[in-house]
Formats: sequence, C-alpha cells, structure tokens
Amino acid sequence: MTDGNETGAAPRDGNLVEVRDLKVHFPITRGVIFDRVVGHVKAVDGVDLSIPRGRTYGLVGESGCGKSTLGRALLQLTPPTSGEVSFDGVELTRLAPNRMREMRRRMQMIFQDPMSSLDPRQNVESILVEGLQAHGIGADREERRRIISKTLDAVGLPKWALSRYPHEFSGGQRQRIGIARALVLGPDLVVADEPVSALDVSIQAQVVNLLDELQTELGLTYLVIAHDLAVVRHISDTVGVMYLGALVEEAPSDRLYSEPLHPYTRALMSAVPVPDPEVEDRRERILLAGDLPSPANPPAGCRFHTRCPWAQPTRCAEERPVLRPIGASRVACHWAEEIASGQLRPHGVTPSIVRPEGEGATPHVVSAPSEPGSFV
Ligand code: SF4
Repeated sequence: MTDGNETGAAPRDGNLVEVRDLKVHFPITRGVIFDRVVGHVKAVDGVDLSIPRGRTYGLVGESGCGKSTLGRALLQLTPPTSGEVSFDGVELTRLAPNRMREMRRRMQMIFQDPMSSLDPRQNVESILVEGLQAHGIGADREERRRIISKTLDAVGLPKWALSRYPHEFSGGQRQRIGIARALVLGPDLVVADEPVSALDVSIQAQVVNLLDELQTELGLTYLVIAHDLAVVRHISDTVGVMYLGALVEEAPSDRLYSEPLHPYTRALMSAVPVPDPEVEDRRERILLAGDLPSPANPPAGCRFHTRCPWAQPTRCAEERPVLRPIGASRVACHWAEEIASGQLRPHGVTPSIVRPEGEGATPHVVSAPSEPGSFV
C-alpha cells in the first residue's frame, strides 16, 4: 500500500471530512426528449456532518432515505446540487478536474456486491494494478507487484489469488478483493456502502473485524453506510440516522443505541431483535404508520410528521425542526426532551404499555396513530 497524505493540506479541527448543507436533487423530466423539468427528487436535502480523522461514521436509515447518494456525493461521484464537502481542508465541490483526480486516490469506496463490482474478465492482479497505473503509483512492474502483495497480505488473501478470477472465490473472499482494491492506493477515507449486506451472516463478522483491524493498522477514516443496525453499532464511533434525505439524529454509537431521542430512531431501535428470548418476548415495538413519503414531494414541516406517533398539531406539520444539540447528540425534533422524559405520550397508547417493565423494554404503539400525541 502506498503512503497517504501526499496531496492534502493540514486537517482542520481534526476533521478529515466536513459536509455543510449538502443537497443532491435529481431532476424529474418529461417531454419527447425529456427536456422539461417538472420537479426534483430531493435525495439529499441539507446534510451537515463531520468525520474526525481515524474514526468511523455510520449512516443508517431505510432504503431510499438518501444514504448511498450522500456517500457518492461526498466522493463527488454524484455531483452535489449545492453545499460544501471539505476533505482534509480542501473544498471538493469547486476543485478543478485534475486536482480532483489527485484527491480521488485518497478517497476510495467499497461496494455492496463484490461480484458485480469486480470485472469478471480481469484476474486479481489486473484488478489491483489498474488503480496504481491510473494514478502513476509504483516506478515499475516489480514495485507495483510488491505494493499489491502487501495489500493482499493485509486483507488476508494468499499470493496465489493474484492469478485467479473473481468467480473462483467465495463471497467473503471477493469482498476482501474489493477491500484490497480500495486500499492498494493508500487512501485516507474509505466509504463502505453496505459492505457486508450481500454476505452470509457467518462471513459478515469476519469482514467487519477485518475493517476494524485495517483501521487500527492504517489509521483509516470510514463512512460506513448500512441498514443493519448491529453492524453499524459494532464498527462506528458516531452514528447518523437519515430520513427522507436529511439527518434526524446523530450521536455517539453507544448513546444512540442506549438512549435514542428522535421518534424515528426509537422506532428503528425497537425493531432490532434481542438475542434473549425472555427479553424479546417482553419487548414492545413501535409500529410506524404508512409508507415512506416520496422524496419528490416530502411533507412540509417535520418530514416525519405523517408517520410520527408523537406528532403534535400545527408545529410538527408547519415548522421544519433543525438538528440541534441535546447532550452528546444532535436531534431534529421539536419535542425530543418531552418525549424522552415521558411528558409527551405517543398516540393511542395507555400509560401501562408506554413504558413496559423489564430490561430492554421500549415504548410501544398499539395501533397506527389516529390522534396527536398527548401530554401527561
Ligand atoms: S418534530 Fe414532531 S413529528 Fe417530527 S419527530 Fe418530533 S414529534 Fe415527531
């Protein structure tokens, strides 16, 4: 692997990545040659986040919430509509193409499906050497081979893998090739988009542990995008929860899982299975009403108000909550404190089942919301 930090300026405030008011809107077009713009899909709509150097930021949310688009926009693979993305103090959205190319070596991606992200006609050596040649790394073939061998070693693949093709490997080994392809260039930042969701459960832990070890060994910074909350919890220092293109909560990993503050986060956490049958039986779930609204026409006010069991009339429907600090977290909810203290109850829930007894018990909504949440 090559040495990182060859092209960047000094980090600002210890953050390798800073994202400010990032928006990615895709036009919806009509007409014979699709030249008439009739609206926009707001895939990412005003996201702020920072990732300290050497740390892992986990991004969770249901399918279609914009988390993958955010990861791609951060790497400038999908051009942002507006906003800023600063990498090691360099503003990427205004960077000239040749400078952006230099920066790309330091920002790599691991894809969800290792089979479809690897060219079946190329053997492993050819896959790994491609990036080195494109970025002019390694004086000659021997030096490039040395870098590749070192990288294979780091991801736990044997030397004989060099001459083999992707179809000759298992799913876990293929993902190791994908990781090697990202690491061979010596990046500082790795965006891993659902890095284990295509793998068997038994292999997932191996790959997650490998990512952990590589971070410690190489000082990597990760943005891990996943819908599996257990994976994100294991690997992340900070977790951001996305809903309809925006962050609704961000907190240190342990805090988010032990004390979720936003109603959407509470609903997500209540769906995570507990490996103790007794606790699992006692545990209550928050059931959300309705489907995810269209990102082309998100609800006014709080975007979650059409499904939120705690939604209050007027304010929730009219005023968009900002992401504001509460303790160590940042939460976009007008009523987060009242909900956390139990002062505000969800719709149609009797007090005895709002807070069930027992370890791991979480608030429960018996039926789909029909009336506003009420104060006690
Ligand atoms: S602001 Fe209102 S609708 Fe939005 S999450 Fe909070 S309580 Fe629910």
